[in-house]
Amino acid sequence: MPNQFDLVVIGGGSAGVTAAMKAVQLGVKTALVERSGRYGGTCRYVGCVPSKTLLHTAQTLHTMRQHAAKLGLPASDPAVDFSAVIVTKMTSFDGLARRMATMRPVNFMQPGA
Ligand SMILES: Cc1cc2nc3c(=O)[nH]c(=O)nc-3n(C[C@H](O)[C@H](O)[C@H](O)COP(=O)(O)OP(=O)(O)OC[C@H]3O[C@@H](n4cnc5c(N)ncnc54)[C@H](O)[C@@H]3O)c2cc1C
Repeated sequence: MPNQFDLVVIGGGSAGVTAAMKAVQLGVKTALVERSGRYGGTCRYVGCVPSKTLLHTAQTLHTMRQHAAKLGLPASDPAVDFSAVIVTKMTSFDGLARRMATMRPVNFMQPGA
């Protein structure tokens, strides 16, 4: 039977993905069920990764405004392209998508599949 598993993990957020990867490493035939159709959960799409991207952008702007002159760099007051900031935030998890593509042989499934 092709759809028989030793372990079914429900929810493809950080916890579920980590559990599924560990199970596969241990040789357990594992299915990971995610209802949204995209894996990574809160951390990947709204939490850790996007929020840290915004914080890094803000920190960089602060450094340019407050410290560039002290470092011997021409004083500058960079404009903020908020649209570009948001695009960067929304694509900050693309690298994770590439990494997750290497996660086979976890069997990715959606409920009802
Ligand atoms: C703004 C923000 C910033 C954060 N920053 C950090 C940080 O810097 N460092 C850190 O460690 N943590 C951070 N966190 C917390 C982190 O995001 C969570 O701890 C983490 O996402 C929890 O992972 P999880 O897998 O338990 O749940 P989730 O990420 O919520 O994943 C649950 C998954 O299960 C799926 N699901 C739910 N019910 C079902 C069902 N019945 N069937 C199928 N699938 C289902 C959901 O669609 C979802 O994909 C942050 C959170 C927020 C909101």
